Amino acid sequence: MSLSLRIQCGFLKMRNVFGRTSVFPATSSRLYSQSQDSTRPETSSTKNMMDIGTRRIFDGDHDLFRESVRRFFQEEVVPHHNEWEKAGQVSREVWEKAGEQGLLGILIPEEHGGVGGDLLSAAVVWEEQSYCNCSGPGFALHSDIVVPYIANYGSKEQIQRFIPDMVAGKSIAAIGMTEPGAGSDLQGVRTYAKRDGSDWILNGNKVFISNGWMCDAVVVVTVTDREAKAAAHGISLFLVEDGMKGFQKGRKLEKIGLKAQDTAELFFEDVRLPADALLGEVNKGFYYLMNELPQERLVIAVMAIASCEFMFEETRSYVLQRKAFGKTIAHLQTVQHKLAELKTEICVGRAFIDNCLQLHAEKRLDASTASMAKYWASDLQNKVATECLQLHGGWGYMWEYPIAKAFVDARIQPIYGGTNEIMKELIGRSIVRQKGPRSSLIVPADQFPHSGFQSRSAASSSRSCCRAPSLRLHQRHLVPSLHTTSCNYHPTPPGRSEQTLVSRPSHQ
Ligand SMILES: Cc1cc2nc3c(=O)[nH]c(=O)nc-3n(C[C@H](O)[C@H](O)[C@H](O)COP(=O)(O)OP(=O)(O)OC[C@H]3O[C@@H](n4cnc5c(N)ncnc54)[C@H](O)[C@@H]3O)c2cc1C
Repeated sequence: MSLSLRIQCGFLKMRNVFGRTSVFPATSSRLYSQSQDSTRPETSSTKNMMDIGTRRIFDGDHDLFRESVRRFFQEEVVPHHNEWEKAGQVSREVWEKAGEQGLLGILIPEEHGGVGGDLLSAAVVWEEQSYCNCSGPGFALHSDIVVPYIANYGSKEQIQRFIPDMVAGKSIAAIGMTEPGAGSDLQGVRTYAKRDGSDWILNGNKVFISNGWMCDAVVVVTVTDREAKAAAHGISLFLVEDGMKGFQKGRKLEKIGLKAQDTAELFFEDVRLPADALLGEVNKGFYYLMNELPQERLVIAVMAIASCEFMFEETRSYVLQRKAFGKTIAHLQTVQHKLAELKTEICVGRAFIDNCLQLHAEKRLDASTASMAKYWASDLQNKVATECLQLHGGWGYMWEYPIAKAFVDARIQPIYGGTNEIMKELIGRSIVRQKGPRSSLIVPADQFPHSGFQSRSAASSSRSCCRAPSLRLHQRHLVPSLHTTSCNYHPTPPGRSEQTLVSRPSHQ
């Protein structure tokens, strides 16, 4: 079946359910001014934080879509999740079913083989996955973190070759940035592709790769120019396909949480890559990574706050039925106060995250704000997990209780997508940059948003404040860290040499 037919079938299914022609609002035709329905209750006033029909950033179309997505997770994911946790991976079938329902690649434009939906529809899928407390299928990473690299930087041929199958769930995508010696600090990346005629020969390995065991294609962050004046100028992205000679998947890693996710090591030994495996332009990989990171951080933040809402509701139900000293523990004032604190914090967080969603839909979410969202929401998620588990007593420590799973799944959130310490680094840098006495040298982020490169000399001028814990000062090239991104964010104004930036104040 052709891609367009498959997607149409997805729409048709929804049309049968809802009697509608389309459930996805078109990205370009909808701005938030149209969906600011003041009659929709905000999270603080809802009966249940996961109720459909709430929050004024959404509208009736999103509600209908949410109903279908919720049904999908309840019918196709929840019943299988225990089994997948034991297997350390989900089924291929669930990917294809998600594709048939039009739940993958929602943000990818139709002309690129995607669904062509709006950001809020994609957010509905992220939230509903958190609401069902099933972290197994790596849909968000696939659809909203990896596929956009191909859609945004791929050639016409790459787009046609990869995206339709990815949107259909027939091909699973992963991204390989992290290596055993390089996580926050990309200067440790050793994976290297060397030219051989028009081909490239790839060697190296990646670790902790989500969807890594099941992936059919992986975007690999690779050094292509070891002599670049700044290492960021020497990084490229390659699309490596399962089955290529020399590409091997290691074991599925045993984790304390995300047990149904197939996190794996990947090995590349003399993998011969044709020229058309290069994604975008050579040595531009770091630019592309910069561009995509705010969305990655927003995804984590949205899923974090939705998980808070899930845990809160789970705990509310629990305390209302658990008895101690002759009445339910919900009668205890200490319990009520704890719930009051949690609800207030979640609602405050929800307001900020919804605002970030709006900003991103309007393409106004800057890297620093996305980092605030990621750090704040994922820290809150862990706080809520701890407090809610506590309110469950010993039962909360039992795997059969949903709060136990939510607790362990929360723990990774402040780590991946750039650790929260790194988030604070780059938020902090954006603060002092704005107030610095010589800030006129620095181009505002919105004018030059994602070029996190620095010259060797610029790097050395800023290293003491920026990345002290992980700097290898003896290294010839100081390489911007991928996950620090804006920590090393020294945009070079057009028409100015990078050397200009060397004279920035040391606190920047
Ligand atoms: C379940 C899971 C899934 C993942 N999925 C993927 C994936 O799909 N693709 C991928 O490429 N990677 C993935 N990762 C990797 C993840 O992004 C990294 O683990 C993360 O970026 C941190 O890198 P690291 O583990 O090397 O820690 P390190 O960088 O070694 O950090 C260790 C500690 O030092 C701190 N630190 C480091 N530098 C600084 C600094 N400059 N200032 C202050 N503190 C600092 C960190 O905050 C952290 O607390 C995944 C990891 C896990 C566990």
